[in-house]
Amino acid sequence: MIDSHTHSLHSHDGHETILSMIRKAKKLGLVYLAITDHLDLDYLFCETSSERKLNIKKYHKSFQRASFLQTISSLKGVQLAFGVEVGYSQKSVSLYKEELPQYPFDIIINSVHTLNDIDLYHFLPKNQPAEKKEIFIDYLNAVYDSIDPGYEYDVLGHIGYVSRYVTYFKKNLLFDDTRDIIDMILKKAINLDKTIELNTNVKSLPQHTIPESAIIKRYRELGGENLTFGSDAHLLNRIGDGYENARQLALSCGFKYWTIYLKRIPKKILIN
Ligand SMILES: [Zn+2]
Ligand SMILES: [Zn+2]
Repeated sequence: MIDSHTHSLHSHDGHETILSMIRKAKKLGLVYLAITDHLDLDYLFCETSSERKLNIKKYHKSFQRASFLQTISSLKGVQLAFGVEVGYSQKSVSLYKEELPQYPFDIIINSVHTLNDIDLYHFLPKNQPAEKKEIFIDYLNAVYDSIDPGYEYDVLGHIGYVSRYVTYFKKNLLFDDTRDIIDMILKKAINLDKTIELNTNVKSLPQHTIPESAIIKRYRELGGENLTFGSDAHLLNRIGDGYENARQLALSCGFKYWTIYLKRIPKKILIN
């Protein structure tokens, strides 16, 4: 069992110390745990948001200390990865280009949390358009742009994030109006050799993963091979959460391996 996407207290919305997360991972039998705290330079351009910025130096120090303590304790056996989740927006590209190469990240997740300087988490529940396709197509265009952003990254974070915060009766991302753009996204990800994550932080959605199973199936049909699992845990009790559902989905679509990253180099490990 692995977990490629988790948050510690260094994230503005995180709560747990890195050491307590390693302890939990050890207890669950994880062989790989990536801590991927939020670096939200996209929020700098959003009026609605007052999130505090990640102190990467402090986060890195704290990661190194926890890694050291792991090596001299009974917590050995969990491969740790120092990661980050960046929030893509066109305006923040140059900032990431400058900032990201300064730190020795093992894994970089690139996610879309904002659209046209609007933070979807705060904005959507009260202001969603009458037509679902309006916001979903805008969101998918941003995801498409984010695949080749001009800075280095490894994993496309939670494709379908928008579904978490809408109240339409049907929240699925794949439907007639989005079929073409989703194919374009998946093909571009395949061409650039990026990894798609099965994110199980689905809030109240009826599905088990973001993206939903039909999209993962399509990704495989198109020749996609790079898949990883991420709980997107912000609390200890969510580390590894939903793994079994994700595992079954991955196997049923024909995937045999998870892709994990160390020093930004992909590695395949058997899904079990
Ligand atoms: Zn995210
Ligand atoms: Zn996250």
